[in-house]
Amino acid sequence: MRATLIYGAGDVRVEDVPDAALREPTDALVRVLRACICGSDLWPYGSKPASEHGDRIGHEFIGVVEDVGAEVSGIATGDLVVAPFVWSDNTCDFCAEGLHTSCRHGGLWAADGVDGGQGEAVRVPQAEGTLVKLPVGEDDALLPSLLTLSDVFPTGHHCAVTAGVSPRTTVTVIGDGAVGLSAVLAANRLGAEQVILMGRHKDRTDLGREFGATDVVAERGQEGVERVRQLTGGDGTHTVLECVGLKPALETAYAVVRDGGVISRVGAPQYAEVPADFGTFMRNITLTGGVAPARAYIEELMPDVLEGTLQPGRVFDRTVGLQEIPDGYRAMAEREALKVMVRP
Ligand SMILES: [Zn+2]
Repeated sequence: MRATLIYGAGDVRVEDVPDAALREPTDALVRVLRACICGSDLWPYGSKPASEHGDRIGHEFIGVVEDVGAEVSGIATGDLVVAPFVWSDNTCDFCAEGLHTSCRHGGLWAADGVDGGQGEAVRVPQAEGTLVKLPVGEDDALLPSLLTLSDVFPTGHHCAVTAGVSPRTTVTVIGDGAVGLSAVLAANRLGAEQVILMGRHKDRTDLGREFGATDVVAERGQEGVERVRQLTGGDGTHTVLECVGLKPALETAYAVVRDGGVISRVGAPQYAEVPADFGTFMRNITLTGGVAPARAYIEELMPDVLEGTLQPGRVFDRTVGLQEIPDGYRAMAEREALKVMVRP
């Protein structure tokens, strides 16, 4: 079968790989119907050292079940399913607590002999716990929005949930990428009345307004901080959703959060240190967030998608075939595309 491999920075190739096949009785074999490129895929695309052999990549997909192992129940051949970006048993103590990313029997896609999502098919470990059935057909118009349930929408939601967003909190979202826009949508869904979106790409922040942003701040750095403070009576917002992953974004978060407030970060951090000095101590700032246990949120978020109340799939502004995936990476890296969907 064909699948995507990354050989190093700027070097993504679609090549022949061994066919996905059942290996464990808890596996399912899924033919990929739609996949996508994640903002987090852009970090290795930007900096991975060149290597002789490629590594599989991709962790967001929906597909059709083609076969299941003997110990899989509840999922059957022909089912349309979404896979969250970490696979998990959905039964261990961590999963029971809603932290499927720490599953005792779980793991990552495209690692340790597990297929990546950017290919024709995937062997899904712990299939019964990992996969969630989608009650739609193979050509349903909702597929793009349902695909976001694999990562980007639950990640935005996790950011809002861990920050404690509610009708009583004001919100700043930092970052107008697909995760930031998803965080706006999630904050709006949780009832926040003021959602300030910090981003400088007008086409993206325009979508952010449609997703529920009440204010857009295009300025960056100190100017941006002052703008948010003007919009909040000088105090900043109760919650800040940091959806970038770079240190300047985190520093902005500390500068625009209200005393006693919460910063949640879901952008894969490209830094090792966080502000924890006496000044932040005196302000009682909470820093939370982390990798999103998407599996924990799929059932909760799916009804709004199925009813069409929310359309998180609007973050996709380009669709490519499998062979065009390298150009999809390039387009996202050059900010020519917001988020690229793959149709194998
Ligand atoms: Zn588990």
